[in-house]
Amino acid sequence: MIRLYNTASRRKEDFTPQRKENVTMYCCGPTVYNFAHIGNLRTYIFEDLLSRTIRAEYPLTHVMNVTDVGHLVSDADDGEDKMELGAAREGKSAWDIAKFYEQKFWQDYDALHCTRPTIVSRATEHIAPMIELVKTLEEKGYTYRTSDGIYYDTSKFDRYDALVGHAHISGLQGGARVEMSDEKRNPTDFALWKFSPKDKKRQMEWDSPWGVGFPGWHIECSAMAMKYLGNTLDIHCGGIDHVTIHHTNEIAQSEAATGRKYVNYWIHGEFLILRSGKMSKSGGTFITVDVLREKGYEPLAYRYLCLGAHYRTQLEFSYESMDSAAKSLKNLRALAAQIGQESARTAQETENSRAWKTKFMQAMQDDLNAPKALAVTWEAVRCGELSAAEKWDFLQTAEAILSLDLLKEEQPAQLALPTEVLALLEQRAAARQAKDWKKSDELRDAIAQKGYVVKDTPQGQQTEKK
Ligand code: AMP
Ligand code: ZN
Repeated sequence: MIRLYNTASRRKEDFTPQRKENVTMYCCGPTVYNFAHIGNLRTYIFEDLLSRTIRAEYPLTHVMNVTDVGHLVSDADDGEDKMELGAAREGKSAWDIAKFYEQKFWQDYDALHCTRPTIVSRATEHIAPMIELVKTLEEKGYTYRTSDGIYYDTSKFDRYDALVGHAHISGLQGGARVEMSDEKRNPTDFALWKFSPKDKKRQMEWDSPWGVGFPGWHIECSAMAMKYLGNTLDIHCGGIDHVTIHHTNEIAQSEAATGRKYVNYWIHGEFLILRSGKMSKSGGTFITVDVLREKGYEPLAYRYLCLGAHYRTQLEFSYESMDSAAKSLKNLRALAAQIGQESARTAQETENSRAWKTKFMQAMQDDLNAPKALAVTWEAVRCGELSAAEKWDFLQTAEAILSLDLLKEEQPAQLALPTEVLALLEQRAAARQAKDWKKSDELRDAIAQKGYVVKDTPQGQQTEKK
């Protein structure tokens, strides 16, 4: 039995899907105006653990959006659209910015072994269902018009405090935390559709029954989640920062429109923080997977680091903890490789190995206790009472969740190379394929200048530090 902590009830609950043959899960995806930082990626790693733990029991449809329009600088609908700001910052079009950062996002996502969603939905490709949803809310009397858009009147929805609790919402309504624009009826009201500014041409805008403009960020997720997963989702995830505004607003819009419960289990991941405070994408200074690579860490060492902390606790990032994660991962792989050799990579399932596999899965099923599952893994691979073939059997189950490249026959030697060296190696492989030996030699020199020696072997290029 999977048990999950539900933000809505503030306790761990048994997980009972609506339909065992298809569990539905929606995860808020990236806003693609900049690189994803490792804090964002911690959230996707936690969601991946959830996805893998569920898929070990049930088929899963996992939808993730890509926010490529409408997320304003403040989650509470103030300021400019992050996409248009990104475009101005880089002197490119908002569409090019979205394409570039989305592609980069998937590279990082894959490098951390996060399982790709079943469906990826881009906001800009779903404007029609968003408009439909706003129309329904309008027909039902939940909306009003201001000079800059169509707003949702939160006072008309009596469960508005469902996710965060009454005290929090009444604090907001007292106006203590949110500055209210003159035209908003309540401080918690939010934009469903924003009009394009009169004095400035937006790059991303669409016609609507209310005028040319763009959707609000919250309506994007409600419309896309319900389009693909129906009115009631089993699970909705995101980072903890989404509880108070984004997910609270998603509930208000969706439930007002359908009259049904929107989500059965709300699951939120805690933040990765820096000693100096919060890691923020809009702040500009943040650590990415590429930064880790440049410092010589392979991305999976970061996955290992995240596995070592429960998803509902804050994780303070430091390079000392990265060092220790990288070292532990190396040691675990070395043990796994030895087990692979001793067992001739042949698994034997016995009562003993089953007991260890159960212990591992029970840790994951207990609200994704990855630190415990990792500890069980270490115990199992060192356990004197298990044969190598039994350990190899255990490792199949563990690796299906941990996904740390524990079972690879040969560890790829190039994993920890800096990105610029990887890029040069790729170019050199292409030059060699095209039999452009001159270019290949030039690239060898360029790689040498970065401090690496490259050798050509029957398996391809191999690199070593000089
Ligand atoms: P964004 O691309 O800013 O829309 O955020 C993508 C995801 O990352 C969301 O689920 C956020 O809640 C989450 N997130 C943002 N900052 C952090 C952080 N420092 N640690 C963990 N998750 C974060
Ligand atoms: Zn969302």
